[in-house]
Amino acid sequence: MLVLMPNKNHLSALFIILSFALLRCAPSSKQEEAIQSKKVKEPALGPITLVLHGGAGTILKENMTPELEQAYRAKLTDALQTGYALLEQGAKSTDVVVATLQVLEASPLFNAGVGAVYTHEGRNELDASIMDGGSGQAGAVAGVTTIKSPIAAALAVMQHTPHVMLAGRGAEQFAREQGLEIVDNSYFGTERRKKALEKLLQQEENTSVLPYQDWKYGTVGAVALDKDGNIAAGTSTGGMTNKRFGRIGDSPIIGAGTFAENATCGVSATGHGEYFIRNAVAYDIAARMKYQQVSLQEAAQAVIQEKLLKKGGSGGVVCLDRQGNIAMEFNTPGMYRGFIRNGKAEVFIYKEE
Ligand code: ASP
Repeated sequence: MLVLMPNKNHLSALFIILSFALLRCAPSSKQEEAIQSKKVKEPALGPITLVLHGGAGTILKENMTPELEQAYRAKLTDALQTGYALLEQGAKSTDVVVATLQVLEASPLFNAGVGAVYTHEGRNELDASIMDGGSGQAGAVAGVTTIKSPIAAALAVMQHTPHVMLAGRGAEQFAREQGLEIVDNSYFGTERRKKALEKLLQQEENTSVLPYQDWKYGTVGAVALDKDGNIAAGTSTGGMTNKRFGRIGDSPIIGAGTFAENATCGVSATGHGEYFIRNAVAYDIAARMKYQQVSLQEAAQAVIQEKLLKKGGSGGVVCLDRQGNIAMEFNTPGMYRGFIRNGKAEVFIYKEE
């Protein structure tokens, strides 16, 4: 049998061929420059920006008095300006989201903090979450009844525990240990929300299905881009009127009601929470940007106007990416919403604005 053994001459020829091939493959300095600039050529970072919502639903001009409309616009503007002032001072996006949402939690106009909707049993149970798109860290509280600012508690969970979500009594004990303000549950109650519950309880007597108040939500959420290019998103809510004791919505669930990732976007959602959980709405928007390479607006639109609508889910989202692009998408007649960039706040309520 003939076996071909490489001799010395063969090996040197092979060596010469390989070196030549390698030289041919090695990029010239010009090519190298081009490769480098391609690698570092990320789209330019957007300016410090803040976008928020104050809930979506059947918000129609004909049901609104000019005074009430004015009150909503003023409070949304107030929250935007509060957050923007912090962004200008160089604050982190997570702190900006908390400060912005605290303005809305303190207002009886919105379904978060004071003005939260009532459970079936006539109590207020609050949910909130926050996510830092730079570190990928997140924190949330669910079903809390005595924490004055649930969004502050969500941040504390993120910063001071190895966990993402604390619920009920454990969350309240943790908030107390953190020195956060604790209030009586009656602090959150308002006449307007009590009446909304009474109306639904009356309807419930005539039906076997538990009705939700479907005409107005009022959850609050914000997404901020700070000067270091970090995105954060947060959401705070009282949930849905007439919800069952212990019902948790999408707002404290990372990936459903809140999501942030510097590489894609930050999202805060509002709407019928069960649909947002089942459809992983906030994460789906970010995932479409990443895997389908579509723009923020295209991703938000596809999820809210096509996917969610097809499943029967109503609500909306506010979103922001690192370039400062904003999307405010909703499939309800209205959504309290607004953004601030270059110092100018703009707020909207109805669809046609
Ligand atoms: N998504 C909230 C929930 O289901 C309600 C809302 O956004 O209005 O708890």
